[in-house]
Amino acid sequence: MKPVILVVEDETALVRLLRYNLDKEGFEVLEATDGEEALLILSERRIDLVLLDWMLPSVSGIEICRQIRRRNETRNLPVIMLTARGEEGDRIRGLNAGADDYIPKPFSYDELMARIHAVLRRIRPALTEEKLNFADLEMNVATHRVTRDREALRLGPTEFRLLRFLMEHPRRVFDRNQLIDAVWGHDIYVDARTVDVHIRRLRKALNGEGKPDLIRTVRSAGYALDAPEMA
Ligand code: CA
Repeated sequence: MKPVILVVEDETALVRLLRYNLDKEGFEVLEATDGEEALLILSERRIDLVLLDWMLPSVSGIEICRQIRRRNETRNLPVIMLTARGEEGDRIRGLNAGADDYIPKPFSYDELMARIHAVLRRIRPALTEEKLNFADLEMNVATHRVTRDREALRLGPTEFRLLRFLMEHPRRVFDRNQLIDAVWGHDIYVDARTVDVHIRRLRKALNGEGKPDLIRTVRSAGYALDAPEMA
């Protein structure tokens, strides 16, 4: 599956050009013409990178970028800001708001593609086609597809990150605080019971009818991805 780029831009002519060029480069393109639409798409779809125009009707690109950084599910999402405002102060404001890169208009498509690839490589090295396997589980980190015994599983974004972390460290036991750091980040407050809730959801998603439980609960210690009977 292709990496998905969300283009947030209100000028339809530019959107058309961006779509044409991104398409040619092998990306899937989604469009939003304002901030509200962008945030809605971000909460519903898996996006790999956002191309975000600064000047938008109602909510500015800068504000959208801040909101992307504030939300749990999107806080690590790569954002490249596009802008006609080429001043140094703007560039700094863009980066301060959490953008990963900043491209002044007009730009060449070669430059834009180079920046997109650079940001994706830097922030999401896993996008270069990486698969994780454990027992009969398979996770494609690039496409977020997870299968068990070749059947697709439906996971929420938190469950996905949780499973990814566990699959990267199979059989290791992590306590709740370690899982919070790894999955939610250490700069936000998450109650330890929240971990239990998401583990429960993950278990439910993973362990279809009669399948062995792949998550081991270690009393007063934490959780591990484990499959003794399948080893
Ligand atoms: Ca615009």
